[in-house]
Amino acid sequence: MPYTEENNQKYQEDLKKKIAQLKKEKNAVILVHNYQRPEVQDIADIQGDSLALATAAVKVEAKIIVLCGVHFMAEIAKILNPQKQVLLPVKEAGCPASDMITAKELEAKRKEIPDAACVCYVNSSAVTKAGSDVCCTSANAIKVVRSIPEKKILFVPDKNLGLYVKSQVKDKQVITWRGVCPTHVRVSQEEIIEAKKKYPGAEFIAHPECEQKVLKEAAFIGGTGGMLKYVKSSKTKKFIIGTEQGLIYRLKKENPDKEFYSPGSHFICADMKLTTLGWVAHCLELGVYEIEVAEDIRVKAKKSLDRMLEITYGK
Ligand code: SF4
Repeated sequence: MPYTEENNQKYQEDLKKKIAQLKKEKNAVILVHNYQRPEVQDIADIQGDSLALATAAVKVEAKIIVLCGVHFMAEIAKILNPQKQVLLPVKEAGCPASDMITAKELEAKRKEIPDAACVCYVNSSAVTKAGSDVCCTSANAIKVVRSIPEKKILFVPDKNLGLYVKSQVKDKQVITWRGVCPTHVRVSQEEIIEAKKKYPGAEFIAHPECEQKVLKEAAFIGGTGGMLKYVKSSKTKKFIIGTEQGLIYRLKKENPDKEFYSPGSHFICADMKLTTLGWVAHCLELGVYEIEVAEDIRVKAKKSLDRMLEITYGK
C-alpha cells in the first residue's frame, strides 16, 4: 500500500479498532499521560497527570493495565496493584529525570542529614520511593511538604520543583537534589519573553519543573492537571504553554474557543513520544513489556505513595 495521508489515516483507524478489540478480549484498561501523542490520547480509558494516573491505578478493575507513559509511571501502577499485570508498550520509554539519583546516593545523602524527612517526587524510580518518607507530584508537592512535622526536608530528585516548593513554604528548610527534567530546562527565560512579544495578550503558564527564571514569567504555575483546570476557568483566550507540547492537544480539545502556543519548537519529551498505536497493539497482543518490582522495594515504595494519597485526599 503506497504511503498517502489517506492510507495513513485508514491504518491509524484500523489500529484503533484492533486495540479496542484486544482490550476487550484481554480485559485491559489503558491509562494515558497528558504528554502522549494525540492519537494515543484518543484511545485512553483514563487520561491524566501522574497524580490522576496513580489515583486511577488504585481503582481499576481490569486484569491488565497498559500504561502509555514512561517507566516510573508503570512502576507506580504495579506498586499499587501487585496482583495485576502492568504493561509498558515501549520498553525503552524511561524518564532521564527519574534516574538522576541512585539508591546509594539517596542513602548517603540521608545519612548526611539524618534529621531531615525525605520527600520524593513521583518522577523517580521505585527504589528512590522506597528510600523516602513520602512521595509528591507537581500538583500536591506544596501540600505534602507543609504537612510534614519535620522542619528539614530533603527533596529529591527534581531540583526545580524542590526550589519552587522552597519558595512557597517559608517555614521549612528545603534541601534540594541536583536532578532536572531535560525537557523542561530546555526552555529559557529569553524564549518566554520572545513568545510574549510574538503572541500579545497571551498568558504564560508554567510547569514547576521549569527553571526559576522561567517561572518568574508565569501567571500560573502548576502540574498538567492544574493547567487544565486553570485554562478552563480563565476568561483569557490565549495561552503560552510552559510544558511538554502533548498537553496542547488536550487543551485545544477541551477549550475549542481558546488559542495555545508553545514557546519554541523543542518542548518535546522524546521518551513520552516513543509510544505509538502500533506499540500499544503489539503490547496487548503479546502481553509485553511486563513491569516487575521486587516485593521488599514495592512494600516500602507503596508506603511513600500511600502517605501522599492520604495527605492529598485525607483518607
Ligand atoms: S517530561 Fe521530563 S520528567 Fe516528564 S517523563 Fe519526560 S524527561 Fe521525565
